[in-house]
Amino acid sequence: QRLGIALVGLGQYSEGQLAPALEETTHCYLAGIVTGTPSKIPKWRRKYDIPESNVYNYENFDAIRENPDIDIVYVVLPNAMHAEYTIRALQAGKHVICEKPMAVTVEECDRMIGAAREAGKLLSIGYRLHFEPHNIEMMRFGQEKRKGTIKHIIAENGMGDVDGWRLDKALAGGGPLMDVGIYCVQAARYTLGMEPIAVTAQEGPKTDPEKFKNVEESLTWQMEFPGGITALCKTSYSENMDILRAEAEHGWAALSPAYAYKGINGETSDGEMDCMEVNQQALQMDDFAKAIKDSRATPVPGEMGRQDVKILQAIYRAMETGQRIEIS
Ligand code: NAD
Repeated sequence: QRLGIALVGLGQYSEGQLAPALEETTHCYLAGIVTGTPSKIPKWRRKYDIPESNVYNYENFDAIRENPDIDIVYVVLPNAMHAEYTIRALQAGKHVICEKPMAVTVEECDRMIGAAREAGKLLSIGYRLHFEPHNIEMMRFGQEKRKGTIKHIIAENGMGDVDGWRLDKALAGGGPLMDVGIYCVQAARYTLGMEPIAVTAQEGPKTDPEKFKNVEESLTWQMEFPGGITALCKTSYSENMDILRAEAEHGWAALSPAYAYKGINGETSDGEMDCMEVNQQALQMDDFAKAIKDSRATPVPGEMGRQDVKILQAIYRAMETGQRIEIS
């Protein structure tokens, strides 16, 4: 039996990626929607055959507790709203997938993890690349030391043409680091299978100080890992970038694009990576539904999201102070 998912927040990611992916899943399906915009409801109900009883708004959302059709709540709201809706969904007795970044502070992450523990429900973060074959190949390259120990990582992720809540620190928690730079932090962590011990960071110049009055426009940062391994990372809201490269003792591996929904391309010092194109979001949501059914842990839990938020906060502190910030 397929588990029912309710999407909270029907913005671009829900509409363009998650809802279509839920037509390709085998262990879960789109059972409900939660939206503050009534005009979106008829189209969504028609397109995905959603009964009126499975449509909620932000006021009556907690009544989802009474709805046996909904097993999983998927929070796809602006970053600063993740904690509230994740906790409310867990308290309503639902399993939760929350989009990245998990929240805007570590304290919020702790409350979310605590709420999951108290409810006895699973909490997962929308880290789709853990289900993407080229990125999995990078994890193997690094963690299995295919070409010896990795010495250096380069990770860059940026996009131009950003507007709306992403430029508002109160809703986004920061600029491109929170939104797309987080992929570089993730990539360095999963390629190495290690945690950074310290970071340094430098904010880039603001070419449009009005647009970026609230958040950084671009950022370069460095992560130190045990054994003198380094990662050099970059993010931006005015430049498109999308690469991951690992330099090992006896060879290298690289993805470009690395973090895209489609068309990820990989190469190593031995030649092209031979990996399948998959629907990342479908695999991610199916794995979560399977984890619930099998009573096992998710490979992308709240704790992983918390660690990233902790690192992001350290990077911002390094940026603001100019100091090397150790990560405990
Ligand atoms: P979006 O702006 O397209 O959608 C946000 C939704 O939240 C909209 O439907 C909007 O109506 C609703 N909303 C409710 N209260 C709001 C408020 N106060 N201000 C603004 N919007 C409000 O954004 P999106 O691109 O769909 O991103 C949503 C979340 O998904 C973010 O956390 C983002 O980081 C994440 N995301 C993840 C991926 C991924 O690949 N995993 C990709 C895109 C977005």
